[in-house]
Amino acid sequence: MRNWIVITAIAFFSLSWTYPVNKGYADLGVLKELPVMRVNVYMMGREVVDEEITKKIYENIVYLNETFQGEITFIFDELFMDPNHAYLPDIYQSFRADRQDIVDPLVNQIEKKGAINVFLFDTYCEEGQNAALMGFTPLLRDRQAAYARVTPKYDRILMAYEGLEENKTLVHEMGHFFGLQHPWEMSQIARYRLGIRNHTEEAHNHMSYGNEVEKFTAQQLADMRSYALKYRTYLMEKVIRVYARA
Ligand SMILES: [Zn+2]
Repeated sequence: MRNWIVITAIAFFSLSWTYPVNKGYADLGVLKELPVMRVNVYMMGREVVDEEITKKIYENIVYLNETFQGEITFIFDELFMDPNHAYLPDIYQSFRADRQDIVDPLVNQIEKKGAINVFLFDTYCEEGQNAALMGFTPLLRDRQAAYARVTPKYDRILMAYEGLEENKTLVHEMGHFFGLQHPWEMSQIARYRLGIRNHTEEAHNHMSYGNEVEKFTAQQLADMRSYALKYRTYLMEKVIRVYARA
């Protein structure tokens, strides 16, 4: 009992030394809201646990969190397996023809509301292309305010199993999910505003294609966090409020 009291007393004093009180609001900085998003992953066309794939999924979520650190946190909620399957390029072609008749019957029964649902499919290299499609994210252009109303239809990221390999595809698709475009689709002024100011910065940006992609700019991260707080709050586990230096 006595030891316990001593330990408590020491803890109390060290706490009061470590954290000075009465510093006033002026020093607290700016209130920053940090979204915490839930992510579910669906292994399509798979019925048996493949440890290699589940390991890669975990690595992808870790890399995702490293990339968005200090802005958005992702919680890996549930992992599903489903024997039904289609090929990613075929699904993409149906979307381009404004149809969802391949993907809807596959996922409608299994997708859960309240999370970013990542569906994994096999892919192939289409004729005339020099690489296989690795992922795409169905979006509502100019009607983002409707996302919450039509959930979970536009809470999907569709990805190839092969896209897990480098950890980069999920990050790129998450960029689209939170409103980012490819650099080459934007005006020079818009690229500048985001901090993409030359070819090297463009090649290294996660929203480009290629082997050199490695980062988002601070402005892209800030834009994605605001976008999430504006349109994707219905997918959040919670919002953490912190005081950050201005
Ligand atoms: Zn893209």
